[in-house]
Amino acid sequence: MGTYSIAVLPGDGIGPEVTEQAVHVLQTVASHYGHTFNTQHAFVGVAAIEAEGDAISDATMELCQQSDAILFGAVGGSPRYEGPNAKIQPERALFRLRKDLSLYANLRPIRPFNALLNASTIKAEVLQRTDLIVVRELTGGLYYGKPSEIRDTPQGYDAIDTLIYTEAEIDRIVRTAFELARERRKKVTSVDKANVLSSSRLWRRVAERVAAEYPDIAFENLLVDSCAMHLIRRPASFDVIVTENMFGDILTDEASMLAGSMGMLPSASLGTRRTSHGLFGLYEPIHGSAPDIAGQQKANPIAAILTVALMLRYSFNLKREAEAVETAVERVVNAGYRTEDLQETGKTIVGTQEMGRLVAEAIA
Ligand code: NAD
Repeated sequence: MGTYSIAVLPGDGIGPEVTEQAVHVLQTVASHYGHTFNTQHAFVGVAAIEAEGDAISDATMELCQQSDAILFGAVGGSPRYEGPNAKIQPERALFRLRKDLSLYANLRPIRPFNALLNASTIKAEVLQRTDLIVVRELTGGLYYGKPSEIRDTPQGYDAIDTLIYTEAEIDRIVRTAFELARERRKKVTSVDKANVLSSSRLWRRVAERVAAEYPDIAFENLLVDSCAMHLIRRPASFDVIVTENMFGDILTDEASMLAGSMGMLPSASLGTRRTSHGLFGLYEPIHGSAPDIAGQQKANPIAAILTVALMLRYSFNLKREAEAVETAVERVVNAGYRTEDLQETGKTIVGTQEMGRLVAEAIA
């Protein structure tokens, strides 16, 4: 029985709706297993810009630093803060959290539930036995490289982004993938674009060097375009996929469809910092703020709820509790309950809050 502190940053759009259900499930775990989860809420994204003048305030950063883990909803989705002329972008909150807290390894597990195989746009026989994890590098590459700007030149505007990786950045993320593979089915696929990009050629060189230190793990290189194709052609053949920031961003949205919906996929962002309980981490669903369905009780809270399972596992070392959350979700899905994004004939459609209640009930 332990006491854990969690910074809760619900954010914008469906962020607060799904986070509320995740916290509800977390508190159910607390009362069932005798733990204490002290949650402290703060603004982030558009909510923070409007309340505090920045996408994330220094006080909220301090709160996150002091916590054992961070539960994050989603940010963005307001036309006022979108587009090239927006002064402060809500996403800045995420980038600051990841960079300032050195959360360089983003883990995105994808294991479609058997009961949902028909909810995917991909054939059930292709999906069967899919159980993979994407390890996305999170604090380097195109999203952080400088210069990154639109420039006014005598010939008209041009724009530049910089894709830079150091050997050390590649080495540590590839190592994370190999360590994970040791606990799984012992296969790593490194994804790059080494036939075109210099950064990818360095990526491949370092990945191969690290692979040589893990002779017990099967290793392959795959070009990102080829990986995009194989992900929906033979998803069950992958175990651990490791890739750079933007490739991981895009491939995991694609991979979310293996699980039936964006609303199903959790993620954990980890570094090397440890608390007295486990690895410090940031936990968030992979989806965004979904402004098209916000405020309508249509959002699927399962991704957010499954992030709680990842938090219990990685940051608090509470494996039994993590499995209890995952099993509860599977039980509710097996019983035929679905949010609208997973609509199938003959199933019972429920709203965001009801789905959270059902999962909590399945734990209790
Ligand atoms: P999105 O993930 O918000 O939505 C994509 C589609 O998936 C939408 O049709 C949406 O309704 C659906 N969807 C997403 N989550 C769902 C859920 N839990 N249940 C049911 N359906 C769900 O991506 P977008 O529409 O491209 O972006 C909207 C805003 O979110 C943008 O401002 C974008 O910048 C931001 N965004 C934020 C994050 C984040 O906070 N981590 C990630 C991606 C996008």
